[in-house]
Amino acid sequence: KSFSDMNLPEPIYKGLLSLNYHKPSKIQERALPLMLANPPRNMIAQSQSGTGKTAAFVVTVLSRIDLSQSQQPQALVLAPSRELARQIEGVINKIGKFCEGLIVAAALPGALERGAPVRANVIVGTPGTVMDITRRRQLDVSKLRVLVIDEADNMLDQQGLGDQCVRVKNSLPRTIQILLFSATFPDKVMGFAEKFAPGADQIRL
Ligand code: AMP
Repeated sequence: KSFSDMNLPEPIYKGLLSLNYHKPSKIQERALPLMLANPPRNMIAQSQSGTGKTAAFVVTVLSRIDLSQSQQPQALVLAPSRELARQIEGVINKIGKFCEGLIVAAALPGALERGAPVRANVIVGTPGTVMDITRRRQLDVSKLRVLVIDEADNMLDQQGLGDQCVRVKNSLPRTIQILLFSATFPDKVMGFAEKFAPGADQIRL
């Protein structure tokens, strides 16, 4: 199977080829058709690190946003650390290289102009900062279509982060597509995850 069988938007397909990604990895092959289906469905995907999880959710995020609306946040990716958020931002910009109108903003401590509205179609950040800018009305969440939680085992387990993720989610449109990615889903995290992403398709590799 190749990415050309997946009916991806042309700019995304070109972005993947430019990185020399020709064949989807196993997690990409299994998760992408489910995540890209309409109407959108939630996903809980577990796969070892290094298996291509990032590209799997990045392709989904890029496929879901309306690139003619560069100023309107439509996808939100949450990660447990600044470093990981920056890495994800890099992957979005690389795979999205041919997506005209794509603007990615990092919602990280000190990264945003204080008080100014965030004008980007994709936001990547840590839960605390995203919570802050939502409260301060800097982030307009009303048009968000996709929420991704990377390293969901860390995010939904730690008291503080899990609580922040729930608060952020509760401020988002009810119909948002929720994608949880992690290398592991210990039982107690899984219970939480199933409540966080109701009715999610589940993939374990
Ligand atoms: P991740 O699991 O997201 O950390 O990705 C692991 C590594 O696999 C990264 O260095 C990616 O650049 C690479 N990668 C992701 N998807 C593909 C693909 N379909 N073909 C080749 N390499 C890939």
